[in-house]
Amino acid sequence: MSDISFQLKDGPAAQLPGPVTVAEALKKLDRDAAKQALAARVNGRDVDLGFTLNAQQSGEPVRIEPVLPETLEGLDVLRHSTAHLLAAAVLDLFPGAKLGIGPALLDDPRYGFFYDVITPSPLTEADLPVIEKRMRQIASRNLLYRREEIPKTEALRIFHERDEPLKCQLIAAKGGDIVSLYYIDGSPFIDFCLGPHVPNTNKLRAFKLLSLAGAYWMGDATQPQMQRIYGTAFFTQADLDAWLKQREEAEKRDHRRLGRELDLFSIQEQYGQGLIFWHPKGAVVRQQMEEYLREELIKRNYSLVYTPHIAKRELWQVSGHEQNYADSMFAPTTLEETEFRLRPMNCPFHIAIYKSQQRSYRDLPQRYAEMGTVYRAELSGTLHGLMRVRGFTVDDAHLFCTPEQIRQEIDDCVDFAYQVLRTFGFDKIKFELSVKGSDTTKKWLGSEEEWVKAEAALADALDARGIKYDRMDGEAAFYGPKIDFKIEDAIGRLWQLGTVQWDFNLPERFELEYIGEDNKPHRPVMVHRALLGSIERFFGVLIEHYAGAFPLWLAPVQVAVLPITDRINEYALKVTNTLRDSHLRAEVNLRSEKIGAKIRDAQLQKVPFMLVLGDREMEQAQVAVRERLQGDIGVMSLEEFTKMARNLVETRALTNQVSGVKSGVPS
Ligand SMILES: [Zn+2]
Ligand SMILES: [Zn+2]
Repeated sequence: MSDISFQLKDGPAAQLPGPVTVAEALKKLDRDAAKQALAARVNGRDVDLGFTLNAQQSGEPVRIEPVLPETLEGLDVLRHSTAHLLAAAVLDLFPGAKLGIGPALLDDPRYGFFYDVITPSPLTEADLPVIEKRMRQIASRNLLYRREEIPKTEALRIFHERDEPLKCQLIAAKGGDIVSLYYIDGSPFIDFCLGPHVPNTNKLRAFKLLSLAGAYWMGDATQPQMQRIYGTAFFTQADLDAWLKQREEAEKRDHRRLGRELDLFSIQEQYGQGLIFWHPKGAVVRQQMEEYLREELIKRNYSLVYTPHIAKRELWQVSGHEQNYADSMFAPTTLEETEFRLRPMNCPFHIAIYKSQQRSYRDLPQRYAEMGTVYRAELSGTLHGLMRVRGFTVDDAHLFCTPEQIRQEIDDCVDFAYQVLRTFGFDKIKFELSVKGSDTTKKWLGSEEEWVKAEAALADALDARGIKYDRMDGEAAFYGPKIDFKIEDAIGRLWQLGTVQWDFNLPERFELEYIGEDNKPHRPVMVHRALLGSIERFFGVLIEHYAGAFPLWLAPVQVAVLPITDRINEYALKVTNTLRDSHLRAEVNLRSEKIGAKIRDAQLQKVPFMLVLGDREMEQAQVAVRERLQGDIGVMSLEEFTKMARNLVETRALTNQVSGVKSGVPS
């Protein structure tokens, strides 16, 4: 055999006499990388370390890139390989088990991989530790992941013999003439898979099985029912432990559970998945969110508008949604031979208001804002609590301005976003600027000059504020660059919220104009902007961020009035009414229960303030104040308490740390 020449990305070339595996070549190029690598990319193709290199036709050296730990590709290989280890353990423990599919999950915050199986008798949660133990036993034997390429007919015969009908279906549907099988040598595992995988089971050390769920083969309810085993894997035990801790914390904060316990909202599947019912207490939080936004919009000289939820099909043809977005839209409905469609976005409606009369440069900017409810035909499998729904409301706005005005408008949007997110208690905000960059694969609308100007306006607004941001080359929408905001919540998770999005497309499609100083028609610049994004989703984020214990200004019930005995009920009612007169949301608990039970109930409902009323408080027209986190903070006159609470609400304080309230006599 002749020598084979190979090189790392930009490194010098090296040679070895062929045949030579990727692992051997890597060892020659970089011993460290060879030791750490999980797999490799050879001339752009993902392969195992055991892959045999062939000399390039062109005589160019073969280009090798190791897939290393602590990269997304590395994690993919690690988790995918661990899913196979799981399948090996299931086959070992439950002979006759059938395998479905078992991919790695990288974007799902809850799991790292799964495998769908059918075992001779159904698995229970109690089987998970047993399976995990067997995975560890197999892993510790340091078994080889071995690839074999064989004709499709031969692969079908093998899986037919193993009585694996689902794998046969997969091979028949997806395999080419030659298919690749993987073995974990020394275990009963064989799979039809493209790879790549780790070289041996020794690489798999930090993994955990998490839960069991029902699943259908191919996600189709008419197909065999399977069980899905979820797990996750990391490169180190420390990473796994940290993740498990965060997961436990996230479970405690799960907005679906808290939404039920605090009676905030529901999703009633019998009336439609992905549709949110805001219960009275959740509705209060929403009213406060909207009221705050409205106040700010008016201060910032936006015009508030209301528009319909449906429109004739023609509107969606002009806007381009019919052509580009139909999959996400509900099907048309017909009335008197006219077809209508529910809106997936609000933009065309605001454009319609802009277009309703001739605009002069003196009228600009026009800023239309609306809590605009939209509907998207999301598939049921993708729905998740408040986070992914079929009907939601966007704190939407569209700005129409002259090119000269745009920089000021973008500046205002960035400041606005900052202020709003901080008011809701998020001070870690991440900005991303998505630009066209050098990407030539997308069909970009707008001229090069327009792109340069638009991108500069967005970047300048961030730079001028000293805001650090990630520049995402090629990530812009085809119709313009944008700024995205992400926030970090109380347990360190990032959430994508609003956006400031430039649009070269819709002003063209709708032929928007304004008459300039030169008396000639010009195209206005259009910007879409949302700060919170979906109100439903933001509510979910808020619930999890605060673990249901909202700051006073957002809390559904702000004050619980708790009489110690029935004798005090009348005074308690009077106190409650006085608080309500001062626009505080107060609820009185007149049940004949011990005061301890009443306090516990208010604590569980995460009510910020409790007023405990006994004979002495009644006689002296006072209230004994208890704060949810701080406990008793003193006795004071009702007037004093009201003033303090109103002040916290009006300043939208995030905590109830107040000085000077301990002046009262302790109760
Ligand atoms: Zn695989
Ligand atoms: Zn829009």
